[in-house]
Amino acid sequence: MRTVIISNRLPVKIIEENNEYTFIPSEGGLATGLGDVYKGDNSIWIGWPGIEIPEHRQQEVIEKLAKLNLFPVFLTQEEINLFYEGFSNEILWPVFHYLVTYANYEQSYWDAYQKVNEKFASAALNLVNENDKIWVQDYQLLLLPGLLRAQKPQATIGFFQHIPFPSYEIFRLIPWRVELLNGLIGADLIGFHTYDDARHFISTATRLLPVNALSNVLVDKERQIIVEAFPMGIDYDKFDELAKSEAVVNDVKEFEKNHQNLTTILSIDRLDYSKGIFERLMAFEQLLQSHPAYIEKISLYMVVVPSRDTVAQYKELKEQIDQTVGKINSKYRTVEWNPIYYFYRSFPIETLSTFYATADICLVTPMRDGMNLVSKEYIASRTDETGVLILSEMAGSSKELTEAIIVNPNNLGDIMQAIIDGINMPVDEQKKRMKTMRATVKKFNVKHWVNNFMQKLNEVKEYQNSLL
Ligand code: UDP
Repeated sequence: MRTVIISNRLPVKIIEENNEYTFIPSEGGLATGLGDVYKGDNSIWIGWPGIEIPEHRQQEVIEKLAKLNLFPVFLTQEEINLFYEGFSNEILWPVFHYLVTYANYEQSYWDAYQKVNEKFASAALNLVNENDKIWVQDYQLLLLPGLLRAQKPQATIGFFQHIPFPSYEIFRLIPWRVELLNGLIGADLIGFHTYDDARHFISTATRLLPVNALSNVLVDKERQIIVEAFPMGIDYDKFDELAKSEAVVNDVKEFEKNHQNLTTILSIDRLDYSKGIFERLMAFEQLLQSHPAYIEKISLYMVVVPSRDTVAQYKELKEQIDQTVGKINSKYRTVEWNPIYYFYRSFPIETLSTFYATADICLVTPMRDGMNLVSKEYIASRTDETGVLILSEMAGSSKELTEAIIVNPNNLGDIMQAIIDGINMPVDEQKKRMKTMRATVKKFNVKHWVNNFMQKLNEVKEYQNSLL
């Protein structure tokens, strides 16, 4: 039995040099977690290679990717614009993150979304065999389980959504809500990060479709569909070991030598309006303003990774962040000290590890986040068990990391107080909390997540077969 993973992006980085493509396996969380699965002999991964490939060079790409068990779906620039940047990132992303006023319900986006999902379906149908287990990933491919089910009624299909599933009142705003749900329920097993997401999905499906629900089982005609929470984990060992490596240990020592008596606060996000970056800055400013005793005592290291910067709202957010950082730094800085170190770029994982290992506090305050891996990576990197995590209750990870200082990201006073509490938390208490959280992140790692999902998918299918 093979496993066929289907996601919008293949887990590779492409480099084009001297008119030749090179594909390097990427190290993202999903790729790491599924690494053992798709690198094995009997599994494949289907997806878009990440850039537009001209027709005359597609054969070359097919051959190179096949060596890595990867199979490309080629998209034109127009499809990328309308299906990916349009429908996925200008409709589904904002609505699923509760920012409904940001949605742009363009008919052409929907047309392209259907067309591209059909493209993925025909690519998959050419490759899958009777007994394969198909695992579809994320919100770009909501129609795919239904399209595959229509052609292969007996197929084993799992679906996992990496972003939140909103409540019915929010989801119902989408003009194509019924079609999207009909696509999803083509799966046998539908997974979300949290129990609340699963609950929202079940209630939405029963209100909008002629299906019944009994606990976490949806019944569509005769077919049973299981809906469950599978909180995604990280590669704990990788972050734990990196933080203990000689290079990182030396960097941390050097940093600490040069920054004695300074409490460092870390924030790392992709540029996104769901991450609460602007609100976080306001809370930090409020702290400096109302508690001047902390001037020269704390610094915020803020990494913002460039993302989707062709979309207007992201461009505006970037300007807003630039201006706010500039304002705070120019107002509060002293000859010896800088309030905010702001980086608008991405870093290699070794540098991230040093950031995690040096930060006394990690400040994670998204307005809404499916899971939030940064919060887990910080925990895995705290090998001496010190450090304080301040975590938004709107992040999926807050359901597991209950020993963090949990805040409402809209409540700036709450964030400010959490920073003060974090600065003053005794080491004993830091260790007590960190120990518990490290045990959780270690146990529920990304391999555990993959195994759990696949095991459940097998069980669901066995149960269905027993009813035949
Ligand atoms: N990350 C990275 N390079 C950077 C900063 C962050 O690769 O310079 C990674 C980080 O290690 C984490 C991911 O980006 O694994 C962000 O995942 P998260 O779930 O926190 O947020 P998302 O961007 O998926 O919404």
